[in-house]
Amino acid sequence: MRDPTSFLGEEYRQLVKDDLDWRLRVLQGPSAPWCEIDGKRVLMFCSNNYLGLSNHPKMKEAAHRAIDTHGVGSGSVRPIAGTMDLHMELERRLARFKHAEASLVYQTGFATNAGLIPQLAGEGDLIISDELNHGSIIDGVRLSRAERAVYRHADADDLERVLANAEEHVPAYRRILVITDGVFSMDGDIAPLDRISAAAAKHGAMVYVDDAHGEGVLGPGGRGIVAHFGLARDRVHVEMGTFSKAWGVVGGHISGSTDLVKFAYNKSRTWLLSGSHPPPVAAACLAAIDVLESEPEHVERLWTHTRRFKKEMRDLGFDIGKSETPITPVIVGESGRAQKLSLRLFELGVFALPIVYPMVAKDKARIRTIMNAALTPEDVTTAIAAFEKAGRELSLI
Ligand code: PMP
Repeated sequence: MRDPTSFLGEEYRQLVKDDLDWRLRVLQGPSAPWCEIDGKRVLMFCSNNYLGLSNHPKMKEAAHRAIDTHGVGSGSVRPIAGTMDLHMELERRLARFKHAEASLVYQTGFATNAGLIPQLAGEGDLIISDELNHGSIIDGVRLSRAERAVYRHADADDLERVLANAEEHVPAYRRILVITDGVFSMDGDIAPLDRISAAAAKHGAMVYVDDAHGEGVLGPGGRGIVAHFGLARDRVHVEMGTFSKAWGVVGGHISGSTDLVKFAYNKSRTWLLSGSHPPPVAAACLAAIDVLESEPEHVERLWTHTRRFKKEMRDLGFDIGKSETPITPVIVGESGRAQKLSLRLFELGVFALPIVYPMVAKDKARIRTIMNAALTPEDVTTAIAAFEKAGRELSLI
């Protein structure tokens, strides 16, 4: 009899052969500028902890306090017995921070996209998506019964073309939803949300932006992409984000109208059917909002390091793509080269992971670096020197 699970090992070994398997690195302490990883002290150069908040003393203290006052678990899903005062306070504070009528917090960003998108558009509707949108958006779209269309990456003219075609559709679509990442996670470029939202408004479409990599990074005080472009609230109907990146904790969220939030929590299956955040998580997220509002220096330092790193890497001759943000890809071609560069950097004391197919095209494998405000200028010098040495050894520059 054939082993019904034989495909597991076969497929895994094929991934290894193609250099496409994930080789997990293990942090033996907090995610900090200098980390202990697999027994080696290295510079962290690829975490989403943009502002270094995941180990911030005020946030740790808030989490400790919440454990003492509220315990370690919420006991239920939000709609039954799992809504605590901390969850409600977090949503009020987030809405204020985003200058929105209301906000809603989900367990993760993935749960937000997977839970909400299929409710916003269904049978008889159309979802129009940027071709490079994040996988959680793609999965959210797949869960919807709506028809789908894709426009060329960050191309508002192509979106306009798709919207104009959609108007000709018989029978007319009930609703049209345009979805885009704010900052694209693999390339670090920014969606032209001003032009996207103008095109959508012209055709009466809703706009949903996933600002996972724009929050804490773009706009005044790190308020995100909607603030960055100074867009009116009625131009962007769902501003989605996650506490797992610049905020340093975990948890997805949306901001928009009160109607959006009430609709979302009554309909999103991920929100309704999955346990709510433990109290220390909600408390740490609340404290993160305090930190962002009271300590603007983190965002400023992030940009100072980012500008310098990009300039010096470009001057060295690296292909760093079109990034405009603290995500700087170092594009090297096929996956094996990216794996080699990452391994050599690790030996030289810099932790920056390769990103390979299927996360990016097969010939666009890269090391994706992410700048961190908690690094010192000397740390950035150390990292650039390691890239230069490894890059020359591997004939990349
Ligand atoms: N959207 C984007 C653009 C992301 O990069 C990510 C995280 N990789 C998510 C959503 C999912 O967020 P979370 O980690 O909170 O599930």
